[in-house]
Amino acid sequence: MNAMIRPTSASENPLLTDWTGPFGLPPFGTIAPAHFRPAFDQALSLHRAEIDVIAASPAAPTFGNTIEALERSWRELERVSNIFFLLTGADTGDAIEAIERDMSPLLARHSNAIYLDRVLYARIAGLHRRREALGLSAEQARVLDRYHTRFVRAGAALEKPAQDRLAAINERLASLGTQFGQNVLADEKSYALVLDESDLAGLPDFARTAARAAAEERGRGGKFAITLARSPCESFLQFSSRRDLREKIFQAWIRRGENGGATDNRAPIAEMVALRAERAKLLGFETYADYQLDDQMAKTPQAARKLLDEVWGRARAKANVERDALQAMIAQEGGNFALAPWDWRYYAEKLRKTKFDLDEAEIKPYFQLDRMIEASFETARRLFGLRFTPVDVPLYHPDARAWEVKDAAGRHVGLFIGDYFARGSKHSGAWMTSLRDQEKLAGDIHPVILNVCNFSRPAAGEPALLSFDDARTLFHEFGHALHGMLSNVTYPLLSGTSVSSDFVELPSQLYEHWLEVPEILQQYARHAATSEPMPKPLLDRLLATRTFNQGFATVEYAACALVDLDIHSLPEPAALDVSAFERKTLDSLHMPAEIIMRHRLPHFQHLFSGGGYAAGYYSYMWSEVLDADAFEAFEETGNAFDPATAKRLRDYIYSAGNLRDPAEAYKAFRGRLPAVDALLKKRGLDTPPALATP
Ligand SMILES: [Zn+2]
Repeated sequence: MNAMIRPTSASENPLLTDWTGPFGLPPFGTIAPAHFRPAFDQALSLHRAEIDVIAASPAAPTFGNTIEALERSWRELERVSNIFFLLTGADTGDAIEAIERDMSPLLARHSNAIYLDRVLYARIAGLHRRREALGLSAEQARVLDRYHTRFVRAGAALEKPAQDRLAAINERLASLGTQFGQNVLADEKSYALVLDESDLAGLPDFARTAARAAAEERGRGGKFAITLARSPCESFLQFSSRRDLREKIFQAWIRRGENGGATDNRAPIAEMVALRAERAKLLGFETYADYQLDDQMAKTPQAARKLLDEVWGRARAKANVERDALQAMIAQEGGNFALAPWDWRYYAEKLRKTKFDLDEAEIKPYFQLDRMIEASFETARRLFGLRFTPVDVPLYHPDARAWEVKDAAGRHVGLFIGDYFARGSKHSGAWMTSLRDQEKLAGDIHPVILNVCNFSRPAAGEPALLSFDDARTLFHEFGHALHGMLSNVTYPLLSGTSVSSDFVELPSQLYEHWLEVPEILQQYARHAATSEPMPKPLLDRLLATRTFNQGFATVEYAACALVDLDIHSLPEPAALDVSAFERKTLDSLHMPAEIIMRHRLPHFQHLFSGGGYAAGYYSYMWSEVLDADAFEAFEETGNAFDPATAKRLRDYIYSAGNLRDPAEAYKAFRGRLPAVDALLKKRGLDTPPALATP
């Protein structure tokens, strides 16, 4: 044994003791990276032993001794995993990253061994065949069906050689996914555009403050640093009048994962795409996209593509009109250059200012982080009767804050944790995760749900200010949080957000609508210095800009979704040249030259860091069809908080986890399936673009 590392026995490993902190939280203060490996080892062997007992049981399979037993078996492993993967995303470092690299293939191997266990599968398949005769409740029938589908989709019914190959593929994919995410983070951490005050022309105060704080964090006090997180980058591109510096930061931003050397992600992508295609073939599907969508609401890549195609032509036409307006503005200023991708946000902001007499710097003081958090809570109170009280509990990082959530009757619902600021130890983006999911199989288990974001950190003593987009992100992630928080199911498998990925964005995207409800904005959009509410004319102008620049926004998104479907529809992707593929696909779509994909392939974490959204990035738009149509249900009543509609929303969507097939759940809420019209209207794509953008 290495003498440098003190051996840890079970009794002193805080990960292996019961969580006895307030609200059943883990003892964060005592957890160190060295605890994870022994905790994982123990949880894995415990789980394996439990699975063996279930599979080898001499008793005839019943729902209780097979499905319920499986449902109970994951708990220990999940406890360790939930803390660990919270940290790998939100507060990582060399030690955690090293364990992550070791653990990801081991965890994949462990889950392979379960989902490819033919004896265990035989029990599940037997139950599934006799499901009508088992006297199951609707929820139990759904759990059985979901387990059966999972095992079949994992390859449990295949012959041994195919299973062995699948297992090897899964392990390799897990390692590559980890490597992919770490490479992106490494490229983001290693870069900062360090500037002097004289380089900041055009930047409003909030961006200067954030850049000063970022420089300080990097030990460059007195200077200003633009990092590659989305918020600071987009702000710089939007406001900096230094075209040369805009180009510089833009080039660094879009080359994350494509810089050559050890952090270049193109080879991992090519390998992942090939392995996924092979996996799909082994499981009887033509392509990975076919395999992936078979268990989604969309069902087929054709259905997803049909929606994207319907939107793409209109969005591109609108983007071209937007581009012409921006180019005209450049000409008007006497500029003698063609609009480049690093100019779009800058001139769009200028045009917005001219057209709507509105600029981001004027709006931003009205979007204080703390008030927007309150606004998201107030929305949840009015829709679902929830109350939030701040509580002082030990968490994993000083930035993280917690609130106890209670229902209208004062009963404990769960704990909500918000971790809002960007820092070097955090992966980019914004997400919801959980430390504990709601369930009732082991008693009345209440959830602990987190939102992790990357908003710019304010200088000491200054209030944190958000852009309108940031505020929308906050509402989005909080919608996911409510999906976890309000979950009311018995079986862990069906809890909260464990729904198909083209349905999971419905609760989050729908929630964004309430940010734009005038009564919420009037109450919570108050000036940071004066506490005055946003003046009505400014509010009206802000809301009038809703469809402004939506050609651009739709194109940068939809291009990603189409490239994702294409790369995962290659039947034989051997020796894929990732950069060339991306270029060729965008050419064939006639991608406007002035717009790039929102996430280029080399840093497209949705697809390759883990892979939850592989062949699934279309989900956001699929869900948007649902959310636009769902919000119309409220608008039709004339009340954005209509109690009867809110109750149906809670019963069939927010609290229902995966109790129902997604299409059925939506129909139960709305009385019918949605049409695409509400989405087109929301994005301003429903009228001919020449009229929409004069
Ligand atoms: Zn989301």
